[in-house]
Amino acid sequence: MSIQVLKPKFHIDECLAQIRECLEKGWTGSGFKTAEFEQKWKEYTGHKNACFLNSNTSGLHLAVNILKRHCGWQDGDEIISTPITFVSTNHAIMYEKMKPCFADVDEYLCLDPEDVERKINERTRAVAFVGYGGRVGQLDKIIALCKKYDLKLILDAAHMAGTRVNGVFPGTWDGVDVTVYSYQAVKNLPTGDSGMICFADEKFDAECRMVSWMGINKDTYSRTSSKGTYKWNYGVDYLGFKYNGNAIMAAVALAQLPYLDEENAYRRKLCAIYDEVFTENEKIHIIGAPYRDECAFHIYELAVPDREGLLAELAKHDIYGGVHYRDNTEFSMYTYAQGTCPKAHEITQHLITMPLHLYLDEEDVREIANIVNAYVK
Ligand SMILES: *Cc1c(COP(=O)(O)O)cnc(C)c1O
Repeated sequence: MSIQVLKPKFHIDECLAQIRECLEKGWTGSGFKTAEFEQKWKEYTGHKNACFLNSNTSGLHLAVNILKRHCGWQDGDEIISTPITFVSTNHAIMYEKMKPCFADVDEYLCLDPEDVERKINERTRAVAFVGYGGRVGQLDKIIALCKKYDLKLILDAAHMAGTRVNGVFPGTWDGVDVTVYSYQAVKNLPTGDSGMICFADEKFDAECRMVSWMGINKDTYSRTSSKGTYKWNYGVDYLGFKYNGNAIMAAVALAQLPYLDEENAYRRKLCAIYDEVFTENEKIHIIGAPYRDECAFHIYELAVPDREGLLAELAKHDIYGGVHYRDNTEFSMYTYAQGTCPKAHEITQHLITMPLHLYLDEEDVREIANIVNAYVK
């Protein structure tokens, strides 16, 4: 049987039971299960606000849209971001006619605080930090920089569902203005497509509920009274977007959430086996993670001399690795920044994502690791 790099595991009976409630009630849109999941997510993470969306990408866009409006940011102003991410992080900045200014990555492949500080200039308005593979990186130092230079901090927590530091979700730390999670199909808490945006400031959360629903100032669920009379009278205050999440996705999320911590612990156990097999191999560089015992490990990364060769070798065994990510400054969209992040540019050519998911057992991981070790020498 072939082994994929990422594969979601669904608790099918629980998912179906939750979805059935939506179908029986006749409510699959925004509201009902979305409100229930927002509440559960706040309890689970400690975030004060949570607004359920159709994706993390939408959430990143809303973060920039709302902060831009309130902080008086201008077109062409800059947000410092990472080249080692899914393009959503950087596109979200461009959607609002602002400019991603790329800073280099550190040993964890998260933004390097020293390079971030070098890249701050009079047009800089915010930093977009990606918790790469669930890692918190040096987020504490980035927060300190944002405070020092009066910048906003947007946390792309697409990989961080379940990551804690000393028991606390980093997105709830003082100084993080907005945190955006992903529940996309292969993320640690998979649905189909959905996400959550958690503003620190509740007035931004309130605005986000309108802007993510076409700018309408009352949501459909609260417009439908218990007797079912649909109140048609609403206003439109913003040029909003159709970014709301729906009850079916929230139903799946509600079914999956109770398993997230034990599943993340299982991921860490598999990562520890990879670590153990690779640690003696001098040709293999394991990408480190601070607070390893609390990291959600969405992906497990190595840097090897011949990445293409290793991908092909694994494929011979019907095992498929991946690459997270291509240096975004290689994309035609972002070539203006080529050469500004030498570490990211170098490591992107050697990165390989090892299979890591809940359908693998310890024996599988040992076998995959042994194949890698035999090839990379
Ligand atoms: C998956 C991902 C996103 C986008 O999430 P969606 O929910 O698919 O929109 C953004 N950033 C990173 C780092 C991701 O891995």
